[in-house]
Amino acid sequence: MNIHEHQAKELLRQYGIPTPAGIAAFSVREAGEATQQLPGPLFVVKAQIHAGGRGKGKFKEASAGEKGGVRLAKSRAEVHTFAEQMLGATLVTAQTGADGRVVNRIYVSDGVDIERELYLSALVDRASSRVAFVASAEGGVDIEKVAHDTPEKIVSVTIDPASGYQPFHGRRIAFAFGLEGKQVAQCVKLVGDLYNLMLAKDMSMLEINPLIVTKDGSLSCLDAKMSFDSNALYRHPDIVDMRDLTEEDPAEVEASKHDLSYVKLDGTIGCMVNGAGLAMATMDIIKLYGAEPANFLDVGGGASKEKVQAAFKIILSDPAVKGILVNIFGGIMRCDIIAEGVVAAAREMGITVPLVVRLEGTNVELGKKILAESGLKITPADDLGDAAEKITAAVKEAA
Ligand code: ADP
Ligand code: MG
Repeated sequence: MNIHEHQAKELLRQYGIPTPAGIAAFSVREAGEATQQLPGPLFVVKAQIHAGGRGKGKFKEASAGEKGGVRLAKSRAEVHTFAEQMLGATLVTAQTGADGRVVNRIYVSDGVDIERELYLSALVDRASSRVAFVASAEGGVDIEKVAHDTPEKIVSVTIDPASGYQPFHGRRIAFAFGLEGKQVAQCVKLVGDLYNLMLAKDMSMLEINPLIVTKDGSLSCLDAKMSFDSNALYRHPDIVDMRDLTEEDPAEVEASKHDLSYVKLDGTIGCMVNGAGLAMATMDIIKLYGAEPANFLDVGGGASKEKVQAAFKIILSDPAVKGILVNIFGGIMRCDIIAEGVVAAAREMGITVPLVVRLEGTNVELGKKILAESGLKITPADDLGDAAEKITAAVKEAA
């Protein structure tokens, strides 16, 4: 789960991590009120969307101006103008895709005099089974270019969970940043506080880009991006409260209500599978037969008929879906339950795209019988290869 910059900065403040003052606003009036609580005379108005690259982004609407989603305002009146332009407009950045994101809220922040822009992030590194910090003296809006052209300018420091964060970790990062004097101690504390925050909130990723050295020589987090491990959200109601459903794919939101693991992809073949491993294998084999999966969908171990129906609806809500492959191994799950769900959903929704069903395992004969006697146009398949071949052929034929 991701949160907005203004929420991430609230968490930074809770942990005593320096970041410029700022207030979120959902309307032009609120933006005006925000400026009254900030010292001025410089403000920065920042579009709040769950995507980076806002500074270099562009609004679809010409009326929103040429300058992108992070704008320096030299007066309260200018904040007003920018708020009017940004709210409700659609911002396209390198991370949003061509459709862009509608800006429903903005962040009015103190304008800061920047001496240098640094890059700092932390993530759960599976290779080392540790939290890894990634740091570069060349932060700001072009970090992807730095990583690509000059990877030697990026330093990684991993933290052994047994001994935890130690000052030497912070010093290595401080030296990679080229910091000196008091700044080194400040950096050691800041990185340690970030590490504690990350662990306390079960984050999977944290990015401060840029971390800045201000003109008066202190460090401050000018931007903040955080992602949380969704499996740990049950113990963080404060983080769950920050969820913004308007930033998420509607089909994925619907799926999470039914406790289905669904991820939308770009292909044409909708998949309904039980078990994450089988779902991955199903996507692989669809690709092997020359097509692309439209989604990843794991209905889980003990799905009910209702859950199968909900899964079907979600798959079919994607207009790109040109065929559906149901691939179920009935272990805990019984094949007849799946078959009933498939038939009920196919009847209710009047499925017009080709549907291939491969069932194996508990009550498989009964399941196949239900499908065969349903009178619906369902193509049975015997194994993974057979299923993938049939659905890709059927979709090609229909095209
Ligand atoms: P994004 O990464 O989405 O483009 P950032 O918050 O990193 O958004 O802002 C982009 C750039 O705008 C920063 O690298 C910095 O140069 C400038 N900037 C952002 N916030 C402020 C601020 N409060 N004061 C001065 N400049 C800022
Ligand atoms: Mg940034």
